[in-house]
Amino acid sequence: MKTHTMHIGLDDTDSTRGGCTTYVAALLVEKLEKLGAKFLDYPNLIRLNPNVPWKTRGNGALCLRIKYDEGLEDQIKEAAISLVEEHADLNFKGTDPGIVFLTKAEVPEEVTAFAKNAITGIVTLKEAMRLIEKFEGEALGFNTCRGIIGALAAIGETLQGDHTFELIAYRVAENCGLKRKVDETSIFKMDELTRPYTFNNVDVEKGRVIITPRGPDPILFGIRGETPEIVKKAFGIVKPLEPVERWVIFRTNQGTDAHLRQVHALNQIKPYNSVIVKGVVSQNPRIIPLRHVIFSIKDESGEVDCAAYEPTGALRKVAVKLAIGDSIEACGAVRKPSQGKPLTVNLEKINILALAPKMSYRNPLCPKCGRRLKSMGKNQGLRCEKCGSKFAGLGKVAVAVNRELKTGLYVTSTRSQRHLTKPIRRYGLEKCGRTAESLIEGWHSS
Ligand SMILES: [Zn+2]
Repeated sequence: MKTHTMHIGLDDTDSTRGGCTTYVAALLVEKLEKLGAKFLDYPNLIRLNPNVPWKTRGNGALCLRIKYDEGLEDQIKEAAISLVEEHADLNFKGTDPGIVFLTKAEVPEEVTAFAKNAITGIVTLKEAMRLIEKFEGEALGFNTCRGIIGALAAIGETLQGDHTFELIAYRVAENCGLKRKVDETSIFKMDELTRPYTFNNVDVEKGRVIITPRGPDPILFGIRGETPEIVKKAFGIVKPLEPVERWVIFRTNQGTDAHLRQVHALNQIKPYNSVIVKGVVSQNPRIIPLRHVIFSIKDESGEVDCAAYEPTGALRKVAVKLAIGDSIEACGAVRKPSQGKPLTVNLEKINILALAPKMSYRNPLCPKCGRRLKSMGKNQGLRCEKCGSKFAGLGKVAVAVNRELKTGLYVTSTRSQRHLTKPIRRYGLEKCGRTAESLIEGWHSS
């Protein structure tokens, strides 16, 4: 019998009051397997541009890539559609689910380019529909149909470059909305035993566990790491204190900085994009209400504000020590300016390239005995308190002050990192291609 390849993209089935698109994907995994489909990859969890103004949550879309016998096509599509209909919060304003089916062995380059734009910037539904039509895909949207954008983008991002894995464990329905019960000590132990190959397990600054989300969604916890083997091993160490309904390993662009795009001049940055941009500090940091820190950077083309908000923790502490003349690379989301204000980069990372020398002006030492001279008043000259000498012609001297700051990379605190932010722990572990050609045994519960 003839076999075909299909990419199934899903997006935006969740709302602030519940649901989770990864969960719909996890259910679909089970259904497709029962139908006899073969998985070509782990389910892909693709985080899209976190700055899209109409998205306030994780902005994650899913793609399942399968091989199946001709004749199963209708049943496969029916399974996906009925799961979305059953589990999406369709009556919630702002929940706009989308499903895209693309029956192609290879993902077209144009769809991959579309995905890159959806991760770093803004794309339109019109553009998505044009591509779906061109490549004979099939799209199904609910409400505003905006989910079709993410569903197609998830298909297009095939994660050929850097990528990571996340094992997500789900709760039974009756526990959703209740406090999550997981043995915290086991999470700290897991972090210790699997580092640096897992990341974002705990916030060391606050001594807090962060693998358990807060909201009413069905996720009990998610473990992020470099390989499917390590997240599965870590899963074995964590002790849940409530039933795990199912678990699945996803391949993802989380923790890869995929949203950041290098911009070569400050006047080129656009609202809603996430950028990496160089500049020289042009206005000293100032602390505004709620302890946020704001400073400005400039280059030959223009000037922008940079903001390190209170929850960025460690990053805020670095930002406040910057001074005019420091050369930095700022990474973060560009916020649309309020009237008359410059664009603002909401900092996720600061790479300090060079520190300007900071000078302080002090009285010189006594040429006779070495004690620091004292001023006798305006235009009165200097006097030594120890030996009594007076000096009319000596002025203040410049002394280099210790900056209490080192060049290098600083990243926002774990608790305020976006899904896409590459944490310090991952530097040096980046993958430059796909290594996991086949799926490990048991990549989901059965
Ligand atoms: Zn003296």
